[in-house]
Amino acid sequence: MEANQKYSILAADDERANLAVLNRILSADYTIFTAKSGEEALDRAQKDRPDLILLDIIMPGMSGFDVLAKLKESPHVQNIPVIIITGLSSEEDEERGFFLGAVDYITKPFKNGIVLARVRTHIQIIHQMRMIERLGLIDPLTDIANRRSFDNHIDVEWRRSVREEKPISFLMMDLDKFKSYNDTYGHPQGDVLLKTVAKIFSSAARRPSDLAARLGGEEFGILLPDTDMENALYIAEKIRSDVEVARIPTSDGSATAATISIGAVSTFPQDGDLAKDFLAKADVNLYNAKNGGRNRIYSGE
Ligand code: GH3
Ligand code: MG
Ligand code: MG
Repeated sequence: MEANQKYSILAADDERANLAVLNRILSADYTIFTAKSGEEALDRAQKDRPDLILLDIIMPGMSGFDVLAKLKESPHVQNIPVIIITGLSSEEDEERGFFLGAVDYITKPFKNGIVLARVRTHIQIIHQMRMIERLGLIDPLTDIANRRSFDNHIDVEWRRSVREEKPISFLMMDLDKFKSYNDTYGHPQGDVLLKTVAKIFSSAARRPSDLAARLGGEEFGILLPDTDMENALYIAEKIRSDVEVARIPTSDGSATAATISIGAVSTFPQDGDLAKDFLAKADVNLYNAKNGGRNRIYSGE
């Protein structure tokens, strides 16, 4: 962040007293917007595009849970992190909040220092994310690695695999019939689908050396160092079925579904082998998965 530019926070709570406290503890470091109802919170979120949202749950009219669900449906604001601050203290409510996409959950009565500390943590994450984006390594739509960071990463991991005589695997994914998805539901909804699958891919890339990346428009890759074909296919099947069962929210409150095809490759690279040829083989396998009827994995085995 530039020294003169403050991060902004939208605090939504129907109790004036709570808003006053939040304002007091946060306004030295952040620009604070407030909303006194769920409806106003949604409106302010769209208009002010805050960096972070603090959301009460029990409010007359639209509840915080409803606000959260609506925020996550809107491509414009769905990436703004939401911290719930609520009097609801059951584990079920907390779980529901996280399920709907909140990043943190604080119960009332809260300790000022704890709210401040958690807000700082999330602002720091946002700050780091933006720095990485500025370095040009993150795809801005999906928030996962872009082609450039993928190329850097495979270069390093390929040489490591040669040196350590370890296998390396790669999954190449392409959305099935994405053109007709865009034509049916519109381009913004197509973008929501891209974000949804990107999330599934990045959560499948669990190890620090794994990397999920958006390689081009609707094409993604997951690099899996020190992973053999058997394990790569296990991960491939997991993401194939996770995408198949995912329901992608639309702005009218309904949901759509989609599938992907996957080309899988695995090798023990030798000195002189080229990563480029390995990736090209994944592309051929992906083509075979498409020809075989889509919504499937092809590995040539
Ligand atoms: P197949 O199953 O053979 O892959 O068919 P397909 O329709 O998915 O493939 P095709 O390559 O014909 O179409 C790709 C589409 O992806 C066309 C393009 O408009 C869309 N696309 C590429 N980038 C983006 C993007 O950033 N957002 C959206 N909404 N669509 C995109
Ligand atoms: Mg496609
Ligand atoms: Mg394509």
